[in-house]
Amino acid sequence: MATEIRSFDLINKTQIPSLGLGTWQSEPGLVGQAVTAAVKAGYRHIDCAQIYGNEKEIGLALKKLFEDGVVAREDLWITSKLWCNNHAPEDVPIALEKTLNDLQIEHLDLYLIHWPVRTKKGTAGFKPENLLKTDIPATWKAMEALFDIGKTRGLGVSNFSSKKLGDLLKVARIPPVVNQVECHPSWHQTKLREFCKSNGVHLSGYSPLGSPGTKWLKSNVLEHPILTSVADKLGKTPAQVAIRWGLQMGHSVLPKSTNEARIKENFAVSDWLIPDDLFTELSKIEQARLVRGDFLVNDIYGEYKTVEVLWDGEI
Ligand code: NAP
Repeated sequence: MATEIRSFDLINKTQIPSLGLGTWQSEPGLVGQAVTAAVKAGYRHIDCAQIYGNEKEIGLALKKLFEDGVVAREDLWITSKLWCNNHAPEDVPIALEKTLNDLQIEHLDLYLIHWPVRTKKGTAGFKPENLLKTDIPATWKAMEALFDIGKTRGLGVSNFSSKKLGDLLKVARIPPVVNQVECHPSWHQTKLREFCKSNGVHLSGYSPLGSPGTKWLKSNVLEHPILTSVADKLGKTPAQVAIRWGLQMGHSVLPKSTNEARIKENFAVSDWLIPDDLFTELSKIEQARLVRGDFLVNDIYGEYKTVEVLWDGEI
């Protein structure tokens, strides 16, 4: 295996850089300098979303990076996501336009449906009474129209199970090229990965470090004894091994940090590899989804009555 895994080819003939900077929970005042530090360190992929509430500050940082000639727009991959309260077909172009304005760019490289979940327009959060039935085919059609006019170079989804992705593939005129889902050494996504692979959909892994900063997730992915022992043997940090594991699995990986030292640490994963025996060790880590999505299901409201139905059994 080549040690350097810079990008992955997508079915729409674009190349997604293998390592992207995550920006969820990157606080105002810190996210701009994180993006700047990341691009200067060599990152060429930024993972954004309207709901993260920081696209304006990211846009200011990008503008300066382009003006200063640090990177050209065409050398940077920028993903953003359509939030749940904008699923109505007429709201999709407005949502993308806001994202483009905030990011101060003309087009995205990838626009994702953030969740297969719909909430009432103008509402925030997931109060049960805000949950609505989805109409993914209608939302997707509106996304396709944005692709047609060049507002994004690719379309994809996020948090879609194999079944939901399969249902979309049956009706899509422009197929999704990426499914962005939780993926790390403690949640391999074995079934979904196989489904994606056999359908030409690239799997992008979010929370690759197990999202240790998210208190409600009770994550200890980076502290797992198998991961820390592999890291010790390789002379790398657990975070680097978790990221490198994702790359060797064939996923793009999206670690978030607003700390310059950790931004650099997380990028230093291209001149070494996890050998087969240690890779096998990592496969012995017990599996558990961190983001179960209990807040997205309800007996009365919305599309999904249980988390089993939300993930179609992939839990
Ligand atoms: P993550 O990247 O797994 O973990 C981020 C946390 O780890 C932060 O608290 C960060 O703190 C810390 N960290 C970063 N580098 C570290 C290192 N080398 N050693 C120890 N700790 C380190 O979690 P995430 O933010 O949940 O996921 C990453 C990105 O995926 C998000 O930012 C977002 O872009 C995307 N995402 C998408 C979805 C979706 O629904 N599509 C859901 C979740 C996440 P510091 O900042 O202080 O370094």
